[in-house]
Amino acid sequence: MFPRIGLEVHVELNTKSKMFCPCPVGEWEEPNVAVCPICLAHPGSLPVPNRTAVIFALSLGLALKGEISRISHFYRKNYFYPDLPKGYQITQYSVPIVRNAWILGKRIERINLEEETAKSLHLEDGTVLLDFNRAGIPLLEIVFAPEISSPEEAKEVLRALQSTVRYLGISGADMEKGQFRVDVNVSVSASRETFGTKVEIKNLNSFKAIADAIEYEIKRQSEIIMGGGKVIQETRMWNGKETEPMRTKETESDYRYFPEPDIPPLLVDESMIEEAKVLIKEMPWEKEERYISLGVPKNLAKIIAYDLELSQTFDSLRGVNPKRWAEYLVNVIVGRLNQKGKTLREFDVGGFGKLLEKVEKGEILEEYLKVAVQKNIFEGVPFERLIEEAPKPVEIDLESLVDELIKNNPQQVEKYKKGQKGVVGFFVGQIMKDLRGKVDPKRVSDVVVKKLEES
Ligand SMILES: [Zn+2]
Repeated sequence: MFPRIGLEVHVELNTKSKMFCPCPVGEWEEPNVAVCPICLAHPGSLPVPNRTAVIFALSLGLALKGEISRISHFYRKNYFYPDLPKGYQITQYSVPIVRNAWILGKRIERINLEEETAKSLHLEDGTVLLDFNRAGIPLLEIVFAPEISSPEEAKEVLRALQSTVRYLGISGADMEKGQFRVDVNVSVSASRETFGTKVEIKNLNSFKAIADAIEYEIKRQSEIIMGGGKVIQETRMWNGKETEPMRTKETESDYRYFPEPDIPPLLVDESMIEEAKVLIKEMPWEKEERYISLGVPKNLAKIIAYDLELSQTFDSLRGVNPKRWAEYLVNVIVGRLNQKGKTLREFDVGGFGKLLEKVEKGEILEEYLKVAVQKNIFEGVPFERLIEEAPKPVEIDLESLVDELIKNNPQQVEKYKKGQKGVVGFFVGQIMKDLRGKVDPKRVSDVVVKKLEES
């Protein structure tokens, strides 16, 4: 069975004002306060495209090596729904602002500039409340070619896209706030050459839900096909355990797309391209490469690079061993912060950096790092004090200690000479018994091996 997965992502842009009117974009406690005749679709009101939203769209297109349309068009997509005051949504259709962009080797067919709908709140008694603060917020609709073949691949591509818009600073891309919404379509066919029937899945609120829903749907469709049945083209909803039918899919002609007569063709000039380029700094895939070249292991480099906050934290500390810093950041610090319900912003990176420097100079033992992070995060002890209180490695004449031990244990030395390398552990253990926490076990082991070889 050959699954084909397509993704459609809606990203809310964090411009100052809405897509076609001067209403502010933001988070409001009161409903219907950021509204005007244009976004409420009063008769005679005229939409004017937001230049910043255009530049944001261009920056994504350029960052993902897409083809920019120097002339694109707005269309009316007609459908009746309470959250749509005009009875249509202004979007793009025949010529989108960006075509054929790429992320992690996967093709994005088109990026459309469009507007948000209002937010509807369904009450238990059947009443629907509408909040038009959201109506008209600029939106990017990012449509992937159905060339993704597994839930893991879908998740990876989506994380990369989320990370990209955050790096560009064009969206918070917070899934919980609805700033980054994903619809998925899945089809399965018995051969690579033919196409199966496409099923769309909605109501996916997390990366986990997306991956689980895709996996479920591939299995469901494969079973139907193998049983000789036919998959029905429909929209299904993910309920956390399985997909269930929602409504039959509207075909494109139902939307009666036609050119928006109130907006002239959208022209992209050189100055807009230049402004968009300014937003493109070092992108996550470039960061990943740089981290790897610094000696950070591949898996850690990826985790850090594709998380804007982690990468900013990582970059803020220089002059320490990047590999060790990456390991502590991802494997220790983030984990402890999560346990305590804190964020990275609450962590004293500079203080930790000073401690790390002392460890690297050999002034403090490495095993103290974990203890210090624990005390800092859970007990609020500042790193300054932790550095003062750190047990200092004592000056020990390790060589003569080992010499004496070797002299007193001739049988063990004999075993070593016969090839029993495990004896090293015996000697290290003897030394560490008295010096635990005062000396680095690795150093002890090195001296023991050296002395045994010499004896
Ligand atoms: Zn408005």
